[in-house]
Amino acid sequence: MLSELSTDALILGAGSAGLACAEALHKAGIPFRVLEGRDRIGGRAFTDYGLAPELPLELGAQMVHGRHVVTHQWIREVGLSVRPWPVSQRALFSVDGRLCRLPWLAFPGYPGFGFRSFWAGARTLPRRLQSATAPDVSLADFLEREAPPLGARRLVELLHAHVYAADADEIGVLGPGEEERRAAEEFGYRNFRLEGGYTELFRRRAQAFQDRIHLGTTVRAIRYDEAGVTVEAGPADAADPDVFRARAAVVTFPLGVLKAGTVEFDPPLPESKLAAIRRIAFGQGYALQLRFAGSELKDRLGDFSMVWGGGATTFHRPGVLHRNVPEVISAFTVGREAASRSLLSASDRLQATVAELSAALPSGFPVGTVASTSVHLWPQDPFARGAYSFLPVGVGPEERQALAEPVGRTLYFAGEATEWHGDSATIHGAIATGLRAAAEVQRELQLQAGRAPLG
Ligand SMILES: Cc1cc2nc3c(=O)[nH]c(=O)nc-3n(C[C@H](O)[C@H](O)[C@H](O)COP(=O)(O)OP(=O)(O)OC[C@H]3O[C@@H](n4cnc5c(N)ncnc54)[C@H](O)[C@@H]3O)c2cc1C
Repeated sequence: MLSELSTDALILGAGSAGLACAEALHKAGIPFRVLEGRDRIGGRAFTDYGLAPELPLELGAQMVHGRHVVTHQWIREVGLSVRPWPVSQRALFSVDGRLCRLPWLAFPGYPGFGFRSFWAGARTLPRRLQSATAPDVSLADFLEREAPPLGARRLVELLHAHVYAADADEIGVLGPGEEERRAAEEFGYRNFRLEGGYTELFRRRAQAFQDRIHLGTTVRAIRYDEAGVTVEAGPADAADPDVFRARAAVVTFPLGVLKAGTVEFDPPLPESKLAAIRRIAFGQGYALQLRFAGSELKDRLGDFSMVWGGGATTFHRPGVLHRNVPEVISAFTVGREAASRSLLSASDRLQATVAELSAALPSGFPVGTVASTSVHLWPQDPFARGAYSFLPVGVGPEERQALAEPVGRTLYFAGEATEWHGDSATIHGAIATGLRAAAEVQRELQLQAGRAPLG
């Protein structure tokens, strides 16, 4: 045991939820420390500034989803800005070797598409999904039963695969439908790119309390009772961890880390919490950034935002509507394919990705030369173990609420998977949970005020 450090609150993890919680406690004047296993803050928000310095590239969270979410306020307050990212408006869909833009899918002439198909995919099916009744089935079974036109099926699969980072046979219908009803804003139609990148956003937000953040401090054990919390944490390779004591602790680890059981809870977490950890699912995904030599794609395809050929990868173009930026494609691969490709060598992964892009383009179309790449493989990352959470068959948002529930008066929970109002799997959802946990801790510490200080 190297040293013993006491404070009022410990925040475990310095991602969006942990930093939002820290900022709120800082403003409230409550002493706290943040313990973070990585050598950086931001968690699943992580920007690459090296591949194309003119165009910061997101390896984790890609966009700001929605016009009114709290992330915009966070961005404005630290002097950064956003730019609209017209994902669907300028998307190209590959249909039987032809590329077409979204509105044109509504017109006959594209096999499997046409007006009926477009309307079914954009309106009828999403509404039927939202009003589906028990028993719950997987999205794949639901689509099988509804037997929509091919184009409609493709549109729905595309949206769901990327919202949930999972395959259609893994995603439930009732749970996600309830979440969509609860969400404050319709998901997916208004998206923005954070100029400057998420890493810079969190660096600026944390500036006021950076001396309270312990980087390279991996939590190994959390021992708690009604008197307080003792956390053992330190560099991953250290024989003896440091010991941190506090009246309360906020756990913000990703669901993947909680599922893996690499952090010991003593006493073990209650069964309701363990059941929630088991039942909520954790999706897989990563964005492989491809920097091309030259801008052949833009020259030939115009200023497009995305290409999708029906597979596990959507090929986003972060430089859409920018002038004079290098040609970069963010290949966002999700689901089982992301998990298995993350195990490949870098060159085999690149080859598989370029082959998928090539298959989405008309036959003989030159893909161009990939000059350099960048990626963070979330499925292989011990501090994430995947991308973000989703509700599988038979699981509703009440499981997220059970995950968020404090244990006794000393252990609190935040992080995107604990968001039960329809905004899980996002930065703004994670921020909201950090603020909620900060309020819970503050209330408890106020109740405790007048008790003897920690010895
Ligand atoms: C590829 C990808 C694309 C995404 N796209 C978007 C998007 O476009 N828009 C959007 O809004 N959201 C997106 N998301 C989701 C968004 O990134 C997450 O919802 C959000 O970052 C989660 O924040 P969090 O604080 O809950 O968790 P995290 O950011 O994961 O923070 C948890 C922290 O705990 C730390 N930790 C874990 N284990 C330990 C331990 N034992 N000891 C100490 N520290 C530990 C981790 O290092 C991490 O810093 C995306 C995510 C991924 C992976």
